[in-house]
Amino acid sequence: MKAAVFRGNQVMEVTQVPDPVCPDGGLVLRVEACGICGSDMRTYRQGTSHPYVGKVIGHEVAGVVIEASPLQSSFKVGDALVLDPVVPCGHCYYCVRGQQNLCENMAGLSAGRTGGYAQKMAIPAEAVTYGCCIPLPPGLAFHYAIIAETLSAGTKAHEMLGTGPGDTVVVIGAGPLGNMHVEMALLRGAAKVIQTERIQNRLDLAREFGASVLINSETEDPVKRVLEETGGRGADIVINAAPSTQAAAQSVLMARKGGKVMWFAGLPPSDPIVHLDGNVVHYRDLTVYGTIAYTPRQFQLSVELVGSGKINPRRLVTDTVPLEQINEGFQKALAGQALKVVVTPNS
Ligand SMILES: [Zn+2]
Ligand SMILES: [Zn+2]
Repeated sequence: MKAAVFRGNQVMEVTQVPDPVCPDGGLVLRVEACGICGSDMRTYRQGTSHPYVGKVIGHEVAGVVIEASPLQSSFKVGDALVLDPVVPCGHCYYCVRGQQNLCENMAGLSAGRTGGYAQKMAIPAEAVTYGCCIPLPPGLAFHYAIIAETLSAGTKAHEMLGTGPGDTVVVIGAGPLGNMHVEMALLRGAAKVIQTERIQNRLDLAREFGASVLINSETEDPVKRVLEETGGRGADIVINAAPSTQAAAQSVLMARKGGKVMWFAGLPPSDPIVHLDGNVVHYRDLTVYGTIAYTPRQFQLSVELVGSGKINPRRLVTDTVPLEQINEGFQKALAGQALKVVVTPNS
């Protein structure tokens, strides 16, 4: 089969590799769509020092079963599936408490295995057993369904924050996840969403996701403006979806007394220290959350939200590319000229 092998230094080599073998209790999928995620972009940029050099990556996958192990009875050849790539072990301290996103033996669908930037992909037995293979909702195209993966992290974040009717929510960042936070906050009843972003091109793309106030944080002070927009109080909820220590520090200054702040985005490993007056958190009675990944339940809910049209994938998926043009797809996403680029390996 054809696959894109990561060679480091922003190079994916499209080449022939052996077909995957169907795992005992697992499946083989014909990959119809595999999204390019922010984490894939970090891998792509990191170069030859990255541990995935020589591997096939890609974890936002939807496709059709072309081989099914007789040791499982959940799925058959021809079934169309969306894959949850956060595959838990099912039995560790965290899994038995329902916090599978923190699994101590996290396998992952693509990390170190064959990922979705390929014509076929092996699905391990644990993914079948622990609810990571979700039937494609009727009428939903494969290249839209993969949005469920990105959305799941947002679903988890808003469950933690308890975003609800009447809230004023600030979202820092207008990448795919920043825009999804805007949609999700509105879906949960937020009265006002304020979005900030330092790249004007991204701010323009963000406009149709529904924030009522858009702030270019390069040309105006976003903290001052958020306070102005909230009667000097600050927002009920502030979500930092920008990988920036400065943005993380600013997020805390944008919250009202008793407000909630979420550090949603990871920070650059070379610059992770946030300079912050701790007394702001103490005296203003703030709660600051971290979050990583999502559970199988939150993934399934996200597939439903996309399948039912409550979250619209059409605004987010701006480009699809065949496997041969995967490097062009990555470059477009890196340049901020596209929101979500989806690779279609069998088109
Ligand atoms: Zn992803
Ligand atoms: Zn576990």
